[in-house]
Amino acid sequence: MTTSFCIVGGGISGLAAAYRLRLAAGDDARITLFDPADRLGGILRTEEVGGQPMDVGAEAFVLRRPEMPALLAELGLSDLQRTPTGVRPLIYSAGTTHPLPTGTVMGIPASAESVAGLVDEETVARISSEPARPFSWKPGSDPTVAELVADRFGEQVVSRSVDPLLSGVYAGSAATIGLRAAVPSVAAALDRGAANLTQAVRQGMPPASNAPIFGAVAGGYQVLVDELVSRSRVHWVRAAVSALQPGWELRDDTGSRWDADAVVLALPAARMAHLVGDVAPGAAAAAGRVVSASSAVVALAVPADTPFPQCSGVLVASGEPLHAKAVTLSSRKWGGAGGGVQLLRLSFGRFGDDLACRASDDELLTWARADLAEIFGFAVDVADARVQRWIDAMPQYGPGHAELVAELRAGLPPGLTVAGSYLDGIGVPACVGAAGRAIEALGVEVAR
Ligand SMILES: Cc1cc2nc3c(=O)[nH]c(=O)nc-3n(C[C@H](O)[C@H](O)[C@H](O)COP(=O)(O)OP(=O)(O)OC[C@H]3O[C@@H](n4cnc5c(N)ncnc54)[C@H](O)[C@@H]3O)c2cc1C
Repeated sequence: MTTSFCIVGGGISGLAAAYRLRLAAGDDARITLFDPADRLGGILRTEEVGGQPMDVGAEAFVLRRPEMPALLAELGLSDLQRTPTGVRPLIYSAGTTHPLPTGTVMGIPASAESVAGLVDEETVARISSEPARPFSWKPGSDPTVAELVADRFGEQVVSRSVDPLLSGVYAGSAATIGLRAAVPSVAAALDRGAANLTQAVRQGMPPASNAPIFGAVAGGYQVLVDELVSRSRVHWVRAAVSALQPGWELRDDTGSRWDADAVVLALPAARMAHLVGDVAPGAAAAAGRVVSASSAVVALAVPADTPFPQCSGVLVASGEPLHAKAVTLSSRKWGGAGGGVQLLRLSFGRFGDDLACRASDDELLTWARADLAEIFGFAVDVADARVQRWIDAMPQYGPGHAELVAELRAGLPPGLTVAGSYLDGIGVPACVGAAGRAIEALGVEVAR
């Protein structure tokens, strides 16, 4: 008997799940994948900008986690794994640029020297004296990053060193992201009895290494998307699933009905919550508590000789009078784009603001030019531009997120599993990992 599976959502979570499912269930399994978008990949989207392929959603992956190098190797794509040139980002704060501090965990410094020059003298003194001040920690607790760091090291460390990094990862801020999600190694050190935050950060630092932190896919993420689609041999139904009945029966927004032995929901949290309200109310309630941020990317091609400094980009401290939260100088970060252009991207939108939804394309482009002029001190000639919005795309990992996810998974009936960026980490590697976990949870055996 042929086994039939439905996967709802065709971003990296759905595609990685489809690929794992094909390997687990064998050639005869029928895998139907639903996504209403004009192409598969979700936030993995490669466009042509200035005649060059450019990622306008996710652009990189952390190499600290094993999933992406392992997946690329498995797919025979390791040769396409790009490594950065090694130039570092800057931080824009108090009207000027500063080197990104070293010796931090997600911007939380292990010593005052790390952030000297970025924060004022009073803050430097406060960090230096932190170990001498009384400290208490309840093992297992999960404050926001801001609650702990502002209290121990001061507000400037939060806004100038931590926020720029957290807004890059989550489009969130230290005020919304839980310590355990943002800096698990620091939380673990505190649980083990670190005497103060300085000691916890020192214990939570990754081992010193010259290895690159990020990788990317040459030719853009589209290459990976195409390979996963081809290997998983899914039947793509270009429609949104609008209802789900136990057993399983799915209805899509064209009115068609589909039967499946098992279903993987690889959707953003709010959409997952909406679909499973009747069949898994506990899971729906948990998913419904995940809030999300929206973001807009302005991708630009500029003349190759535009005199940007030798840095990979600029992260903007919170509270600065710029619209962008980050500039990535993609050609500096990964090496020249060719075609007589340099590529760069500006990101807009943080949790709690509506910039990405509200601003017109023209406004975003105007802000992009103005912010570049403010940061670098010269007007940039734009040869080509593209605006891409990602609405409600970035789940916020608030305090207690791990418990929320455990509650969500515990509320799923047999034959229904979830993958997505709101579960085990927001980045592409974590999505690949969660997708594998979703297929393991189905306990699929190859139909013979
Ligand atoms: C601007 C930006 C930059 C980022 N940069 C990086 C980065 O550099 N590195 C990194 O590791 N991570 C990055 N991320 C995070 C990462 O890209 C995402 O978390 C990840 O791609 C999410 O994949 P997903 O498949 O879970 O969700 P999505 O890509 O959002 O896919 C969900 C899919 O579900 C579909 N869908 C929605 N409703 C329905 C329905 N009812 N029925 C069927 N289908 C439906 C949607 O059309 C969509 O295609 C970035 C995110 C953003 C927004």
